[in-house]
Amino acid sequence: MAETLRGLGVSPGRAAGRVYRMAGPPPLPAPARAVEADRELSEALRALEATAAELAARAERAPDSTAGEILEAQSFIARDPGLYESVEANVRAGMDAAHAIDAACAHHRRALLEAGGYFAERASDLDDIRNRAVAVVLGLPMPGIPDPGHPFVLVAEDLAPADTVNLDPALVLALLTEKGGPTSHTAILARARALPAVVACRGVIGLDDGTWVSVDGARGEVETGIGEEAATEIQRRAVADRRRSGTSRGPGRTSDDHPVKLLLNIGSAADLRATGSPAGRDAPADPAGEGRGDVASEGVGLFRTEFLFLDRREPPGYEEQVAAYEAVLRAAPGGHVVIRTLDAGTDKPLPFLGLPEEPNPALGVRGLRVSRIRPEVLDTQLDAIAEAARAAGAEPWVMAPMVTTAGEAADFAGRARARGIRHVGAMVEVPAAALRAGRLLNELDFLSIGTNDLSQYTFASDRQHGELADLLDPWQAALLQLIADCAAAGQAAGKPVGVCGEAAADPLLATVLVGLGVSSLSMSAPSIAPVRDSLAAHSLAQCRQNARLALGADDPAQARKLVMPG
Ligand code: PEP
Ligand code: MG
Repeated sequence: MAETLRGLGVSPGRAAGRVYRMAGPPPLPAPARAVEADRELSEALRALEATAAELAARAERAPDSTAGEILEAQSFIARDPGLYESVEANVRAGMDAAHAIDAACAHHRRALLEAGGYFAERASDLDDIRNRAVAVVLGLPMPGIPDPGHPFVLVAEDLAPADTVNLDPALVLALLTEKGGPTSHTAILARARALPAVVACRGVIGLDDGTWVSVDGARGEVETGIGEEAATEIQRRAVADRRRSGTSRGPGRTSDDHPVKLLLNIGSAADLRATGSPAGRDAPADPAGEGRGDVASEGVGLFRTEFLFLDRREPPGYEEQVAAYEAVLRAAPGGHVVIRTLDAGTDKPLPFLGLPEEPNPALGVRGLRVSRIRPEVLDTQLDAIAEAARAAGAEPWVMAPMVTTAGEAADFAGRARARGIRHVGAMVEVPAAALRAGRLLNELDFLSIGTNDLSQYTFASDRQHGELADLLDPWQAALLQLIADCAAAGQAAGKPVGVCGEAAADPLLATVLVGLGVSSLSMSAPSIAPVRDSLAAHSLAQCRQNARLALGADDPAQARKLVMPG
């Protein structure tokens, strides 16, 4: 039966295909009463072997050697004789196959945690093996990103950055999540890859694998009950539309030539290779042949370095970091790169940091605050950035996330300048920093406003929370007021203040931000051309008028209505 499911459209675009769900950990049924030990044992060992074989096959297909090594090591653990022995002992003690695997993995997990250090970091590997093997025994869908062998629409409760970072855009047509909010990392990564995405979409997790759907990432709608033929036609048109859009070129400016740098948000040099072409060059880069990723930016406004650290058991070493930063510095259009130091914590947990569990992680040790506990991580990163800059003959701008006070800004600037880094800045993500932007600029050379976190902290609303999306709407006047105050501080100090949160990617809101006085906008690659077109259609005076109208509105809906042309 045809049905339209509605959620928040967080990454525009159409797509159609069959859905496959990313399953969660399989729950254990009640223990079987009478078990036939030999049958249960062979069932359990078959499941462990199937799991090991599946992990080994994934290792072969892994996009890079690091991911390949992790998966291969995991497949060895699934074949570990010690694990097999525990499973056998559990079955002989009367457990069925699923409970025997669960208990054996729990036992080995405890042992790893007790051993600490490197071994403790492998505990999550055992969780994954447990989930996969139990799913095989119970005949439930395999946890993790599905691999149906053809392009599909990915459905999940929610996605962690580690899940999404290796998604193959040639296979995943769109992302649909039951939970999540407009500034969650699912949303950010979807936009970065030009994948249509709908989050907080109630009911989507209940769709059967293989169901054909059409997705509208702008309206936040998912239509079920369509057939293969209709889906193929929608997908064909979506690809054609993407090819047609985003044809504007050149540096960002208003219709009366007021310059506004349009910059890219990236997670690695691969993002630049996939999408980058310097301003003015006109051959669009489109590796997937899908009309995704036609850019012409003026540099990188936010290099999220934490993607190098995610999904790792050990932090990347100094040499590896130098190579990663140098690759970006060499590949960046126009050579302008703003590198953000590690932003770990909350929704980007990094187990190797050994951060304590916190009741309120978003309000705890995250971003720059991690350097209170592990100062050497930041120092190594700054050393690596300085070395990469020397090697590439570049002058990167370097900023810290979650700076809250002028004292923190001064401390960060001191450490960076001691290493020869000349352009030092901070992200404004905490209202305290926005309120004291002028004081921060006494210590720094630039500010970059992270509207995703600034919304979260200004409105006391978890950025992942679908129910609170209205509060997190970047058209909220209180958020715009803080941006205006930062921009004014920048103009008074004669120093640049840009926006690198997702607000910068909204073509109409971009006119408001420019009217408020920001000097650059940094966004995912697919948004560059629409934002450039929108600025080119407005004079600076019109942008300022839009800013006045938006600041004076009672709510985001009214603000949009007042600013919307016609
Ligand atoms: C932000 O908070 O707006 C930002 C750009 O940082 P991130 O989304 O990586 O937290
Ligand atoms: Mg942030």
